[in-house]
Amino acid sequence: MTHPRSAHRSLPLLLLGLLALGGLAACAATPEPASLPESPRAVLVVHGGAGTLDRTAMTPELEQAYRDALEGALRAGHAVLSEGGRAMDAVEAALLPLEDSPLFNAGHGAVLTADRICELDASVMDGATGLAGAVAGVRTVRHPIRAARAVMEHSEHVLLAGQGADAFAAAQGLEQVENAWFQTERRREQLEQALADDKFGTVGCVALDAEGHLAAGTTTGGMTAKRFGRVGDSPIIGAGTWAEDGVCGVSATGWGEFFIRGAVASTVAARMKFGGAPLAEAAHATIHGDLTSRGGTGGIVALDADGRVAAPFNTPGMYRGWITAEGEVTVRIWTDR
Ligand code: ASP
Repeated sequence: MTHPRSAHRSLPLLLLGLLALGGLAACAATPEPASLPESPRAVLVVHGGAGTLDRTAMTPELEQAYRDALEGALRAGHAVLSEGGRAMDAVEAALLPLEDSPLFNAGHGAVLTADRICELDASVMDGATGLAGAVAGVRTVRHPIRAARAVMEHSEHVLLAGQGADAFAAAQGLEQVENAWFQTERRREQLEQALADDKFGTVGCVALDAEGHLAAGTTTGGMTAKRFGRVGDSPIIGAGTWAEDGVCGVSATGWGEFFIRGAVASTVAARMKFGGAPLAEAAHATIHGDLTSRGGTGGIVALDADGRVAAPFNTPGMYRGWITAEGEVTVRIWTDR
């Protein structure tokens, strides 16, 4: 995601329509209608980031590529669930291809810091056990989502950062790459053009398995031109990711500092658990109420224990999709389609 302050500097470039995805400026927020949308049912929901997705700069080919990538992720997660696999495995299966896709701001294709390197953040949470794992600022592990899961399953910790996190991932046998592997020409150009891209494209997933367990995961390169060492909401349990059996799973995308300060992901669950709100209401109040009133921009995807989907966002667009137990896929980018 673009830091809005930087986005303002890149306005002329945006107007030139050079970029397919516009900066995520707070002033560009377009709240969804006050009435709650119907909650579709699904077993898995993904997002590919939220922001000002400029329709005029989106070619039909690029739009199709995004839709195909989201559908591919949904089908990869669904394949795990339909064989009776665990929600956590489905989340990982859905996020791996998105980390490898240059379209999204995660893994290969992640945005660059102001120092022209990629520093990646990721987290997972397992609603069945309440366990969570995360990595922040990793530079060499090819799949940060796997590293986050390894922290959850093979360490006593929740969050490992920087060199220590990469070293832990290497010791776990996870594939290491040069930092250049994450960097694409498109991201380098975006950084050079304005030291602020328009990249959202963080990816996240929530899954509900046949046993009723929920799991969630989020993985990102963070915000373009971020300060070296900056950690966003994506690896912060309760801010960017939450999963709690019997309640809901949430994965967030947007201007991370606001999501951390608002504990956005766990607030959705708290509204349901302590306030008795249904998912759609809890998600709507958290994004269109709390987040918007604080000046934050972004959105979430969420699933409740009955497989109801909520995907509110206060930006013009958010890449998102869900898949039913029967394999029926829905993919949306803007509010209307
Ligand atoms: N939330 C991410 C961060 O602040 C960025 C994004 O979702 O695009 O690091």
